[in-house]
Amino acid sequence: MTEEIRPNLFRIVVPLPDSPLKEINSYVVVSDERNLIIDTGMNRPECKEVLAAGLKEIGVDLNETDFVATHLHADHQGLISTFMTANSKAYMGELDSPTFRGTSNTWSKDGFMENYAHRSGFPADELAASMENHPGFKYSSARTVDYIDLKEGDSFEIGEYKLDVMHTPGHTNGHICLYEANQKLLLSGDHVLGDITPNIASWSDEEDPLNDYLASLEKVKDLDVELCLPGHRSLIHNFRERVEELIEHHHARANEVIEILQQGNKNAYDTAGLMTWSIRANSWDEFPVMQRWFATGEAIAHLRYVEGKGLVSRQQEGDQIVYQAEGGRL
Ligand SMILES: [Zn+2]
Repeated sequence: MTEEIRPNLFRIVVPLPDSPLKEINSYVVVSDERNLIIDTGMNRPECKEVLAAGLKEIGVDLNETDFVATHLHADHQGLISTFMTANSKAYMGELDSPTFRGTSNTWSKDGFMENYAHRSGFPADELAASMENHPGFKYSSARTVDYIDLKEGDSFEIGEYKLDVMHTPGHTNGHICLYEANQKLLLSGDHVLGDITPNIASWSDEEDPLNDYLASLEKVKDLDVELCLPGHRSLIHNFRERVEELIEHHHARANEVIEILQQGNKNAYDTAGLMTWSIRANSWDEFPVMQRWFATGEAIAHLRYVEGKGLVSRQQEGDQIVYQAEGGRL
């Protein structure tokens, strides 16, 4: 589906087969000089066909078109290298773009992820299966893109639109939103979603991504936004209310994690198994492996956050990391 949301601002809804996200919104801003495409879909034929048809319908000349990925995930940047021309520039937040400059991804480097997963209690055979199916590796760009870094305060001027870059870490470290102050529009990537809650997961021992995410929600909460254009599903008309809901959601989740630990110390994998999930499965054991992996990352993010608040402590038990409730809640 392709629609004109505002004059010269279009949305192309690109399907994401086999993904619980269902679809991604690719936004296109056109002008007499340059065009800008924000997010593209995964590098797979089902996405490529729909995006190509939408761009044709709008009449976009790719020789006059630049690209922005709101963050590094394959569903957002996967088709940039396919559609960009020798005249195109591609942009990404300065903390996400370095991922594409290395020869291999950090996850497979020196068995880091295997080790991290093992310490979190994730079964080794399941990890191998989930890495094989991981959409981030399977459907990323066909070739390397030399991204231009974006930082807070940068902006794009295309026709009647001025899009200001806001750094909003949490969903990824380098995630950015684009704010159009005059038209009261926010292109929110995966920072603020309407029908689903963005995945906040921790894949390192040092980071506290949920703390970053909540700070980034506070950062955008009071912006004057009439219409929020998210990376997935429906457009958001009640922006501030939705941001408040997301903050509340994570507070409740963090308290749920504390309550689970009050029943006894647990590793992240077992904590995830006791959390409530909206996925359609009868039990934790029936979760698809990939979803169990994402859920474990999400559990770690919440454990880290309450650890940072002094409500939970982390201990080494054998070769695993186990969390313990310290009393109190958020
Ligand atoms: Zn994402």
